[in-house]
Amino acid sequence: MFEKVLIANRGEIALRIHRACRELGIRTVAVHSTADADAMHVRLADEAVCIGPPPAAQSYLNIPAIISAAEITDTDAIHPGYGFLSESARFAAIVEEHGYTFIGPTAEHIRLMGDKIQAKETMRGLGVPLVPGSAGQIEDPAVAAAEAAALGYPVLIKASAGGGGRGMRVVERPEELVQLVDAARAEARAAFGDDRVYLEKYLSNPRHIEVQVLGDAHGNVVHLFERDCSLQRRHQKLVEEAPSPALNHDQRLAIGALVTRAMTALGYRGLGTVEFLYADGAFSFIEMNTRLQVEHPVTEMVTGLDLVHEQIRVAAGVPLGYGQDAIRLSGHAIECRVTAENPLTLAPSPGRVSEYHAPGGPGVRVDSALYAGYPVPPYYDSLIAKLIAHAASRNECVLRLRRALEEYVIEGIETTLPLHLALMARADFANGDYDIHWLERFIAERQAAGAAPIA
Ligand code: ADP
Repeated sequence: MFEKVLIANRGEIALRIHRACRELGIRTVAVHSTADADAMHVRLADEAVCIGPPPAAQSYLNIPAIISAAEITDTDAIHPGYGFLSESARFAAIVEEHGYTFIGPTAEHIRLMGDKIQAKETMRGLGVPLVPGSAGQIEDPAVAAAEAAALGYPVLIKASAGGGGRGMRVVERPEELVQLVDAARAEARAAFGDDRVYLEKYLSNPRHIEVQVLGDAHGNVVHLFERDCSLQRRHQKLVEEAPSPALNHDQRLAIGALVTRAMTALGYRGLGTVEFLYADGAFSFIEMNTRLQVEHPVTEMVTGLDLVHEQIRVAAGVPLGYGQDAIRLSGHAIECRVTAENPLTLAPSPGRVSEYHAPGGPGVRVDSALYAGYPVPPYYDSLIAKLIAHAASRNECVLRLRRALEEYVIEGIETTLPLHLALMARADFANGDYDIHWLERFIAERQAAGAAPIA
């Protein structure tokens, strides 16, 4: 097992990883920008190294600075968290070349799945059903027009190097295709330095359901059931739950087994998430994330496993030591992503937290690096806390989450706590009756009502 791990991240996930390391008897090294000198994970880590100024490009994405920090602290392994360098095959390779263990999959698997066109091709070969789409990237406009017509409008243009919901364009009519392909290409080139795009059938009302997998370095792979992440805004998840209210147990076991077979054939090591759109009883693969996910806690609550412990163990070469039969689903868990944003307009609201009180009690978990007096910096993602509730049934879980949201106090900045509370009161949410567009409509309705003059 490792003696010292460097955490190449910030915020709640850096703290989450620090906690897991501590429980495993591993010392931690925090790296941070000058904006995060007083951050909770920096305070708690055994050692801390400043790696640059606030902009991420000069600090959390600064590979030479991170490798130097690993050298001066004599680190054994590097955990990338999520975001930043977590899906950079280049970073994973550089980490390993310098003699450190990258806590994640192999650089080859990261590269393979980071290229969505290749990922889809690979999954097809492994017998996983896909969202119908173009045969590889779009090059010739005439071929693209024929492919789009065969798929049937609307179609979706997606970037092969895409992520975070960027570079996507819905095409409603044939005459828009060429112009929107050019726009998507330009956006992909600017965002990812790779302008390859492809087409997918645009599914009208699917749910987003993803399967969590875990593989060790000895060829053992298990799945940890699924999460439903359909509640999204701008293709970004806001609320996630496990298990999905849309699946029965047989469907759950079937998709889990399919994914496990595919990942076993691939020889996948580490944590991974295989994402599907689900409609009319059918699953269609969209992409795979080769890292720890923001929403991993809901899986932890319903399986009783600590995913970060497992991730560190398999990276150290420890065999899983258990099979699929040992993994049981218990109860229901829901996570709310709380962000430093106006709850109506969702405009960013960085600043100093003047008062802070986190909820507690049975079945409530808060993953957050906030404290009273903490200045939420304007430079990074607006996620400030994840509130997770776990209960025996979905119904009890919703009630528990509502009371925990009512207890939560974050003063001095605006947060999305009121948005989450409003969501809890909606019958569609209580019934688990929503698709990937539901939350956008809910937010638009709130904005329309909020903007109306008060009678
Ligand atoms: P990213 O990597 O940018 O997050 P994904 O491929 O994971 O992109 O898709 C993000 C979200 O976009 C999905 O969860 C879903 O809501 C929507 N989406 C993606 N592909 C389709 C599709 N073919 N039809 C309808 N919605 C889609």
